[in-house]
Amino acid sequence: MDSVRHLIVGAGVSGLATAAFLGADEDYLVLEADTEIGGYCKTVKRDGFTWDYSGHFFHFKHPDVEKWLRDRMPGQRVRTVEKQSFISYRGRMIDFPFQKNIHQLPQDELIECLYDVYMARAQIPGRAHAPENNFKEMLYARFGRGIAEKFLIPYNEKLYACDLATLDKDAMGRFFPHADLTDIVRNMRQADNASYNATFTYPEGGAIEYVNALASEIPAGRIALNEALVGLDLRKKIATTTKRELRYERLVSSAPFPRLAKLAGLEIDAAAFSWNKVLVFNLGFDRKGPRDVNWIYYPSRERSFYRIGFYDNIFDADRMSLYVELGFPRDAVPQPQEWLSRVLDDLRAEGVVTDHQLVAHHSIVMDPAYVHITQRSVSAVDRLSRVLAANGVWSIGRYGGWTYCSIEDNVLEARALAKDFRAA
Ligand SMILES: Cc1cc2nc3c(=O)[nH]c(=O)nc-3n(C[C@H](O)[C@H](O)[C@H](O)COP(=O)(O)OP(=O)(O)OC[C@H]3O[C@@H](n4cnc5c(N)ncnc54)[C@H](O)[C@@H]3O)c2cc1C
Repeated sequence: MDSVRHLIVGAGVSGLATAAFLGADEDYLVLEADTEIGGYCKTVKRDGFTWDYSGHFFHFKHPDVEKWLRDRMPGQRVRTVEKQSFISYRGRMIDFPFQKNIHQLPQDELIECLYDVYMARAQIPGRAHAPENNFKEMLYARFGRGIAEKFLIPYNEKLYACDLATLDKDAMGRFFPHADLTDIVRNMRQADNASYNATFTYPEGGAIEYVNALASEIPAGRIALNEALVGLDLRKKIATTTKRELRYERLVSSAPFPRLAKLAGLEIDAAAFSWNKVLVFNLGFDRKGPRDVNWIYYPSRERSFYRIGFYDNIFDADRMSLYVELGFPRDAVPQPQEWLSRVLDDLRAEGVVTDHQLVAHHSIVMDPAYVHITQRSVSAVDRLSRVLAANGVWSIGRYGGWTYCSIEDNVLEARALAKDFRAA
């Protein structure tokens, strides 16, 4: 039987970063079920268009992580872009985030939102603050009914495709743009739409360039493509793959957490794990569309998509190149060919597509895409992770950790784990 010190499951950003930071002198093997590396950070090139699996733009908070990656991308131009993002709201464009730009609404709606946010937060003797036991309650309690019902609730319901009352109040962590009354009022005179991604970077070769940077540290023969982990004997430390059995000392997995737990024979609380699917269309047209916009949010239930983005405005290209995202519950089976004409109709209704001709397209269903972070999922992951770690198994990454994070977070987590392993 083959044996390896570190068995790494998944050649997405998390798995490749673990291997890269372990270093070539360590004994490891990366198993990847797919025929290519990259996981959700793959890039598709078609008819002169460069698309990712979904809009993947990068906001590095740690300059050392970005430098490490860029040092391994020789000749690759990386664009830095000041984000221009809007919300399509009842026929007008409002700057994102909605809650800080209510002054751009018609006067009656501004008054409604301002009154509601003020009253939601006012200290009124004898009146308790509204509870914040879940994501939906948090939206009402912090922003009031107006902002919650005009944007935050319909938009997030389209994205997550679930009842927001089932989500943990911190389901979006630092990715949720909080704003208090002072921020909201100050923004009326002094625009400050800074958020976690006020500027972003994007390599001209697409997101896969960051993946290739990580892979450049991995010697040939250390990534086994087209080989999936299908069983795990925690006690004997033997992994069964679609091709063989492998003995390991430590196993690091970036496969979705509930799947790994099942493979390891752990009893899981199935109801604790829920997620959405995102159907992504990448659409290339024969000529330019709207300029000065990177992405647009669509809270209206009349539109099939919740967000679209413009690659051509990042690349300064002369043909409109869009990604379009639609959210579905985990049990839905969205058929791209059935949705494409509806998406094109909705793009026409929004004035994004006029007399453009669609010249290339690609679609993918991301499953899981956004995991539903609930109190139950957090405690199940926490409990089972401890069992796995006690048996030499670490579950990391966006889906391995069953969380909401960026690729930078994936690199940081993998780097810290590899450092611990090397020090042990
Ligand atoms: C719609 C959407 C938009 C996003 N936008 C951004 C963005 O703009 N910026 C950003 O920084 N991040 C973004 N992200 C997040 C980013 O995609 C993830 O953080 C990152 O790709 C996760 O990498 P990972 O390696 O943890 O997981 P994955 O990319 O899922 O990689 C896991 C790998 O494991 C493999 N695998 C699974 N099971 C097995 C098995 N049993 N055996 C062998 N291999 C297996 C899979 O094939 C896959 O290759 C976005 C995510 C989504 C869903």
